[in-house]
Amino acid sequence: MFSQPDYQQHLARPYRKALLNALLIITFFSGLLFAWINFGRNNPVVAIAELVMATYSMILLFIIRDTQRLEFWAMAYLLPFFTIMMVAMASPRSTLNIFIWIFLIPIVAHLLVGRIKGLGLTLLYIGIATGIFFWRFGNDPAVMQPVILSNIGVLTLCLIAFSHVYEITREKTEQRLSQQAHTDPLTQLPNRAHLQSRFDLERLRHQRQGNPLSLVLLDLDFFKRINDTHGHAAGDKVLQYFANLMRTAVRQTDLIARLGGEEFCLLLPDTNADQAFLVAEKIRHRLARAAVDIEGAPVTLTVSGGIAQLGADGDSLDVLTRNADDKLYQAKATGRDRIER
Ligand code: GH3
Ligand code: MG
Ligand code: MG
Repeated sequence: MFSQPDYQQHLARPYRKALLNALLIITFFSGLLFAWINFGRNNPVVAIAELVMATYSMILLFIIRDTQRLEFWAMAYLLPFFTIMMVAMASPRSTLNIFIWIFLIPIVAHLLVGRIKGLGLTLLYIGIATGIFFWRFGNDPAVMQPVILSNIGVLTLCLIAFSHVYEITREKTEQRLSQQAHTDPLTQLPNRAHLQSRFDLERLRHQRQGNPLSLVLLDLDFFKRINDTHGHAAGDKVLQYFANLMRTAVRQTDLIARLGGEEFCLLLPDTNADQAFLVAEKIRHRLARAAVDIEGAPVTLTVSGGIAQLGADGDSLDVLTRNADDKLYQAKATGRDRIER
């Protein structure tokens, strides 16, 4: 549905938006606070930079409300925010304790823009901060002490490592959960939710490029008998067998979904109803020809199907499914082991 990086961004969006929102509010108020303090300490350059950052945060708060380019705006926040931090560190009026802010860099960068760009930003700005630190305090024997340098250095490295490992784990967990939410556990086929999001994407493609899109509903015939005669486990095995049979009969770009029970749906891009009929017939033939081994006994199965094409038979997944289901019903009513167009 998405390329891998797009997909990860898409997943992380609500979480990152909430985070950026909170950071912008904090930046706004702390920008005002520090501007007030720095004006009082006669440090107008830094104070003005902080006022600008506070105003900018306010503007960003409105922009990110309904943006599709969250990562862009996260970067547009982080770059000036970190740069002003560097300016404040370089300012001769600021004291050593301002360097405590570098501890924020790895955390905020990783949480907002992910593990790769987050690590890049972290290394860049911590590198600059280190340069400024030695430039300002390199000749100050009160600062250049092993205890102070080790404390700052080790804590910074720990924060970089923790943020990075945390973000890797979070991304993996998020991907796994999303995968589970879109997959049928028995057959490992996409489920109805997955079908809907893929359909929305394929319909957009159809609207832009005019390529045909067809949908096939398939329902195993007399499946209940398998369960009743051989048990539920045998029924499960048959469902897995049929899922694999379908997998080998369609293109890589086609989607096979399990809608529930023994009902399946094929979503076939670049395929009209006639071509979809051939695909469904191929599956029907293959199933009827081969026997499934159940407890050592060969059992033959059949399947019935109905077809609907986007445009001719409806414009939404609901309507298309309903029309394909009517055809499926006709196939069942007229003897089963049939595909109806
Ligand atoms: P028809 O030819 O009209 O489609 O008849 P059928 O027996 O295939 O259809 P029916 O809807 O009467 O029965 C479907 C059965 O599928 C009933 C239900 O117990 C079984 N079933 C649904 N989900 C599963 C599952 O996950 N595993 C197993 N083993 N059986 C399931
Ligand atoms: Mg059935
Ligand atoms: Mg059924």
